Amino acid sequence: MTSDSQNTTVRRVKPIDIPPVISVSDLADNMEVNPVEVVKGLMRGGYMFAINDVIDREIASIVVQLFGFQANEVEEETSGPASLTVDKESENPDLLETRPPIVTILGHVDHGKTTLLDRIRKTNVVDGEAGGITQHIAAYQIESEGGSITFLDTPGHEAFTAMRARGAQVTDLAILVVAADDGVMPQTIEAIDHVRAADVPIIIAITKKDLPNANIDNVYRQLSEHELLVESWGGDIIAVPLSGLSGEGVPELIENIHLIAEISELKANPKRTARGVVVEARLERNRGTLATVLVQTGTLRQGEIVIMGEVYGKIRAIFDDKGNRINEAGPSTPVEIMGLSEIPEAGTILDVAGTEKEAKKIVDERQTQSNREAIRLQDAHSRGATGNIRQVDLIIKTDVQGSIEAVKNALDGLNSNDTRVNLVHIASGSVTERDVLLAVASEAVIIGFNSSPEGGAQSLANQESVEIRQYDVIYHLIEDISKALDGLLEPEYDDVYFGRASVRAVFNLGRRAKVAGIYVNDGRITRDCTVHVLRNGEEIHVGPISTLKHFKDDVREVATGFEGGMSIDGFNDFEEDDVIEAYSVEEI
Ligand code: GDP
Repeated sequence: MTSDSQNTTVRRVKPIDIPPVISVSDLADNMEVNPVEVVKGLMRGGYMFAINDVIDREIASIVVQLFGFQANEVEEETSGPASLTVDKESENPDLLETRPPIVTILGHVDHGKTTLLDRIRKTNVVDGEAGGITQHIAAYQIESEGGSITFLDTPGHEAFTAMRARGAQVTDLAILVVAADDGVMPQTIEAIDHVRAADVPIIIAITKKDLPNANIDNVYRQLSEHELLVESWGGDIIAVPLSGLSGEGVPELIENIHLIAEISELKANPKRTARGVVVEARLERNRGTLATVLVQTGTLRQGEIVIMGEVYGKIRAIFDDKGNRINEAGPSTPVEIMGLSEIPEAGTILDVAGTEKEAKKIVDERQTQSNREAIRLQDAHSRGATGNIRQVDLIIKTDVQGSIEAVKNALDGLNSNDTRVNLVHIASGSVTERDVLLAVASEAVIIGFNSSPEGGAQSLANQESVEIRQYDVIYHLIEDISKALDGLLEPEYDDVYFGRASVRAVFNLGRRAKVAGIYVNDGRITRDCTVHVLRNGEEIHVGPISTLKHFKDDVREVATGFEGGMSIDGFNDFEEDDVIEAYSVEEI
């Protein structure tokens, strides 16, 4: 072939980029053809999709060839098919500025994490702010001589597992707290594994050095057994003995945080649009949804449109970690933002969108994409199901990356000629709503190995009748799965009390539909609960909730002290002063 003829061929068959998933309209755009034609082409191939639907690469390739182009497989951008302008914005090295380190404190329970954090906060509070810091916030910043430090204060390893499970690396430095009198304990080891997996630098804080039975050298020895060699033992790990109670040693700890931060050269560009991560989020009575967000780079401003996973909204107000209203927040700043329509999950990345329309489009596409992913898996599952083989399908979440191999190997032993353990998904992190959706799609059972469901995941699982089993010993897990393969495993359920509400008013919506105006006196009422209606102490109805509202909005739950509206499937007989008790059927 001459080079000329090669050129001719290349010119005719234009390669079209195909990411793992792409919307029909984007694909049409890429090919410069009318999207309606693409939909028709899909139909001819037996696929029913609308213009805004997202299709996978396999189908997209067929379409591309149908239109006479060549398919060029490309890897997806992390943000999904609809990309944000900020993603394309690179960190211009000339604009980078030093940012405060983000520090997480981990360690065994009662080893003094809270005491140490309190001590650090108290001694490093700017005058006059002391009153403002009594509130709990999962991330806050302190000022010290060497500069600001941001602390992440989330329970257990949540900050690590939940956030890392979603690909968010937030911590720059981990402080491992070990009590001098108690030494290395199980949760210390877990913490070490988490920090290792996250590959962040570590400083050891040996707390309670003031106690008479403090044995610092013993702690060093125990740490060395876990390959953490402190400086005085010839290693390069910094260890600072201290007392959270008296404060002795705390300034040295702070100094060392600054030292590690300096070595790590932590930088960000405050001039770009913000990117951050959700540390926690909650619904507050007067202020609505509040998300604690750590700005990682750029500057976040009031009025901006933000996207967090599949939630978006316009920032109505920003508060700093002391509850003061501020207009903007730069890198490493923890803030609370107000104005979201729904509660985003911890660990979700925050991005800024140009317009509300753009944000909506991105969120829509993300939702379609996650639905499609679930459906694809379901297809794969049904294709994989085999006649005579007894198979259990599992989604397994483990506490640490290191457990994955161990669990996999142990389960492998259960495979035989007529039994099969199918691992739909195995990863480290807590059980998320995404896992539950995956379980629905693949009809799998979720196993939490030293890993528990996140807030929304358990209620979604109840609602979707997905089984989540938790284990902390591999042997028990294997025993149960083996029983399941034998068809012996029967889950046990029990009613768990959730909350109580009273009916304050009854509204007629047409002839049949009655809605109760309720006030929640205790606990909470969630959408997926079963409710018992009591009148004068007698139970008159039991059944699922059909609608739950707060003002005009459908909500997942109504908490103590809130009012709401409720209707119940198959029950239309509300009277004022009826008592509604909510229960959830949970596995024991
Ligand atoms: P956490 O569970 O790791 O947050 O531990 P806490 O901070 O709640 O501390 C557990 C207990 O140890 C409390 O009774 C503290 O008063 C005590 N404690 C914490 N740090 C020190 C310390 O440095 N010295 C002494 N003597 N007691 C401490």
